[in-house]
Amino acid sequence: MLRSVLEHGPVARSTIARLTGLSPASVTDYCARFTELGLIREASAPRRSKGVGRPHVPVDLDDSRFVVGGVHVAVPYTTVALLDLRGQVVARRELKHERTDPAWVLARAAEGLDALLAEARGSRPLGVGVAVGGWVDRDSGTVVEHGLLGWRDVPVREMLGARTGLPVHVDGHARALVNGERLFGRVRGSRSVLHLFVGNVVDSAFAAGDEVHHGPRSQAGVIAHLPVPGGTEPCECGRTGCLQAELSERTLCLRARRAGVVDGVNPMHVLAAAAAGDARAVRLLVERAGAVGRAVRLLLDVLNPETVVVTEVGVMHREDCLAALREGVGDERAGSVVPTSFPDSVLAVAGGSVVLDVLYRDPLSA
Ligand SMILES: [Zn+2]
Repeated sequence: MLRSVLEHGPVARSTIARLTGLSPASVTDYCARFTELGLIREASAPRRSKGVGRPHVPVDLDDSRFVVGGVHVAVPYTTVALLDLRGQVVARRELKHERTDPAWVLARAAEGLDALLAEARGSRPLGVGVAVGGWVDRDSGTVVEHGLLGWRDVPVREMLGARTGLPVHVDGHARALVNGERLFGRVRGSRSVLHLFVGNVVDSAFAAGDEVHHGPRSQAGVIAHLPVPGGTEPCECGRTGCLQAELSERTLCLRARRAGVVDGVNPMHVLAAAAAGDARAVRLLVERAGAVGRAVRLLLDVLNPETVVVTEVGVMHREDCLAALREGVGDERAGSVVPTSFPDSVLAVAGGSVVLDVLYRDPLSA
């Protein structure tokens, strides 16, 4: 019901009843409870109606009272953010990793959230969502394994919960972003969605209907060592051309350094060089997007989703990369492959979506 308000608000109670299949009495009851909790309110300009006609007074989300915290742990830095109930990022901060041990990283994240909340006076936090790459077990709130960070069996929910005093939910970032897309993105309404995240970590997530597939211990979507057709980069596993080794931002930056395009490890600098007309940077980005497309093609064959969302720096920002991606897919399904809905805030949205998904599934528990 809260999702129908999110998607259609301001919306009449009678319409909610039709959309959700709930009885008008149930809708009225839930509306009263959600209003009392401060999650929804009557829209400011009610439609003209004869008499009292309460069922026809539209309701809308009340996005003025609550925020959620979002934490995304990448390899070089952590993003902390506050999001409103519509998934809009209201504040964020990037915290560079001086160390990558879990205690240090999570302590800085808690401090960062505290600072953002202090600035956003009056907004009450409902909880914190944490999105991390690698293998994350949502049920136990644990990062089981994240090779690049060197994390193993890290009880993130417990550690961050103790530091923030807030309910903490943890999930893999590709799954988190599928939920972000389902709730707030352009693929809303798609019956099945595959999300491919290509950062330093490369992973994927698949949602059918309203459910993101986790599998036992949330191991679904770990595709780091899937072979990319035409790949040449050696992988730590001993093979060549594994998805993560081939497509990670590290490899992009390594190749850009070899080509003399950049001297650092920041993929945004490669993007900036391409935008400034550096043909070598353009070629590296377009080639990478094409390889991502060939990887998408493999996943399309296995899962046959209605829509594929790709989060990759070139595809997010450049038409030629999106075209190369679709060419890599190589058939009529290329049209169903789209870039992320959140090009400017993808990491903040990933973290926030973990907890907003929980809220929209069970608002009363929040
Ligand atoms: Zn490998």
